[in-house]
Amino acid sequence: MEYRTLGKTGLRVSALGFGASSLGGVFRDIDESEAIRAVHISLDLGINFIDVSPFYGLTKAETVLGKALRGLKRDSYILATKLGRYGSTLADFDFSAARALKSIDESLARMGVDYVDLIQAHDIEFGDVNQVVTETMPAMRKLIAAGKARFAGVTGLPLKCLASAALQSDADTILSYCHYELNDTALLGILPQLAARNTGIISASPLGMGLLSVRGAPAWHPAPDLLKAACAKAAAHCSAHGASIEKLAVQFSVAQPQIATTLVGSASPTNMQRNIQWINEPLDRTLLAQVMEILKPVHDVTWPSGRPENN
Ligand code: NAD
Repeated sequence: MEYRTLGKTGLRVSALGFGASSLGGVFRDIDESEAIRAVHISLDLGINFIDVSPFYGLTKAETVLGKALRGLKRDSYILATKLGRYGSTLADFDFSAARALKSIDESLARMGVDYVDLIQAHDIEFGDVNQVVTETMPAMRKLIAAGKARFAGVTGLPLKCLASAALQSDADTILSYCHYELNDTALLGILPQLAARNTGIISASPLGMGLLSVRGAPAWHPAPDLLKAACAKAAAHCSAHGASIEKLAVQFSVAQPQIATTLVGSASPTNMQRNIQWINEPLDRTLLAQVMEILKPVHDVTWPSGRPENN
């Protein structure tokens, strides 16, 4: 496993990180003991960065992750969670300082740990970005001063909003998703301004939350139909050539050195084992060129997320 420095945090994170939304049953019903094994096998094979949120499975992911982490040495993994998002409607967002202070205590209790390495404001485009900058980030800094977290960051989909909030609040990290994968490399556009501040870069969803998989996107997936169709065509092309779109997708995302860690999620130990094995294998450049050609008409096609003014 390759390890990279997560910007100004100085943390050395595995190039592939474990995204724990899968433990909340976000993609399918899960078998808890299998999900716990997926975490253990990931750590055994060199992953040291785990990302979760109280939102995933409406607290279930943090609870299941807590069971997986029980008994492990606290300094043997780097743990990130989030605050501010607690459900799927606009009413389920709360970026107030008061909620931030309460939220982290709930997360720490669910996971059975004394601190997290990284606390992040979750999906900031659903809130008032000015509040995130002037209230949530200072609250997260207080959590750091209290020893409950070590670093603070922001997460979200629209890149302009994410970069602007990160720069204004001097965030330690950003977590972007669905913007560095086979069909979308828009994340590269904001990296120069963030590099100037040494902001740590976390990129999530190399499989586009299921778009780049044989199983395809789940029913709730917000991508426009033309994007879903092109990704399905790319997946079929790989299958027809005896190859795996999932493998190509994971290899492609992890190969970008400006991204410290790429978060992939699965509650299946076999899938996680495969994901880790794949990044040590050479990328099939011919297949990559063919898939890029199929995806060219939808390159960087995305979808709106959050408040209109943040898109
Ligand atoms: P992903 O692109 O990793 O796709 C996950 C889907 O792919 C799941 O259905 C999973 O079962 C499947 N999968 C994984 N490995 C596979 C394999 N080898 N073969 C076949 N299928 C496989 O997307 P994700 O789970 O959404 O993202 C990963 C993590 O990133 C999340 O768990 C979360 O921690 C983080 N994330 C954060 C945000 C945010 O903060 N706003 C948004 C998206 C993701």
